[in-house]
Amino acid sequence: MQIFDVIIAGAGPAGLRAAEILGNAGKKVLLLEKNERIGPKICAGGLTRKSREYLGLPDNLIEKSFSSIIFRSPHFKTKIRLEKDYFFLVDREKLGQWQLAKINRQNVTVRTKARVTKIMEDSLIINNGEKTGYKYLIGADGSASIVRRYLKVPTKIYGVAIQYLVPQNKFEDLELHFDSVLFSCWYAWIFPRHDYVSVGYGHPSKSHNLKKIDPVKIRGGFSYWARKNNICLDNIALQSFPINCDFRGYKFKNIFLAGDAAGLASGFTGEGIYQALVSGEEIARIILEKNYQPRLIKEALQERDWHHLLLRIVYYSGPLRNFVFDLVAIGVRIRLLGRILVRILS
Ligand SMILES: Cc1cc2nc3c(=O)[nH]c(=O)nc-3n(C[C@H](O)[C@H](O)[C@H](O)COP(=O)(O)OP(=O)(O)OC[C@H]3O[C@@H](n4cnc5c(N)ncnc54)[C@H](O)[C@@H]3O)c2cc1C
Repeated sequence: MQIFDVIIAGAGPAGLRAAEILGNAGKKVLLLEKNERIGPKICAGGLTRKSREYLGLPDNLIEKSFSSIIFRSPHFKTKIRLEKDYFFLVDREKLGQWQLAKINRQNVTVRTKARVTKIMEDSLIINNGEKTGYKYLIGADGSASIVRRYLKVPTKIYGVAIQYLVPQNKFEDLELHFDSVLFSCWYAWIFPRHDYVSVGYGHPSKSHNLKKIDPVKIRGGFSYWARKNNICLDNIALQSFPINCDFRGYKFKNIFLAGDAAGLASGFTGEGIYQALVSGEEIARIILEKNYQPRLIKEALQERDWHHLLLRIVYYSGPLRNFVFDLVAIGVRIRLLGRILVRILS
């Protein structure tokens, strides 16, 4: 049986970043991806400035940049203007391929169409057949993580995000629409690309200590919202995927969980790429250096806790929720407040 220093299950942003760091440090790594191609993922591809700066993402990878964002409440619309470009849209496949190109292939063996199907204490099975050994295992296999299931870490808090990629984009701005009647305590987004637009929405599951939110009702609300905004969803495939927000630790002896597998995404905004990247990096550094202090994971967790608190406040404002959204839409007309809101949410 072949034995690797580290096996990484999943080549999303978390797994690719961990592979880059470990490969550069000379570790013998096996990166396993169940899909044929590395990169594609149901995702709106929105990055904020902190992710771009963290990654040092080149211009040619940015499909669109925005220095403003529209916040819409039931009765008001405010364009929050920022000093410089703050939001960026990327194609997930291109992001994945760019991360892949940075990996040291002398040390890192990358295998696609390689699904982890069973996990044991110091080895795992690939595609129901091949046994391979590891000293460390990183579960970077997303919200439906097999590594997390092996560790018996439960997932009770998660969101579900749904998107449609609508051809012939007619929108200029990045928009977030809040309306309690339609989307409860979450929102709908409009992310315009060059030749299409990503529109979508999400809802927390029976999570965050909230009562169950009715997904059928919210889907109906979204269809109504789309018609009202002249967005035709006929014959367009619905894409949906869970977002795991139930963090219960990332280190379990010689097994680690990163990104969505660890439940690091925000339950309020749905942002998870940044958390995946920084957790992938810092878990790799912990493997390399036992006393490494993971500052970025700590910060991401603090931010995530704030988001979950905000979500609860919005949820429990109940019948006053639309009033709160209207108040925020008016408040952020004051530049400073607008910037503070953007900073809190990203
Ligand atoms: C509709 C939608 C819109 C979103 N929009 C945004 C956004 O705009 N901005 C943002 O920051 N976040 C967004 N997110 C969240 C974001 O997509 C995730 O948080 C992020 O992709 C997490 O990265 P990851 O590396 O942890 O996992 P993933 O990106 O899910 O990667 C996991 C990888 O593991 C592979 N894998 C899974 N199981 C196995 C297995 N058994 N064996 C081998 N490989 C396996 C998968 O194929 C996948 O490639 C969105 C999510 C959804 C659903």
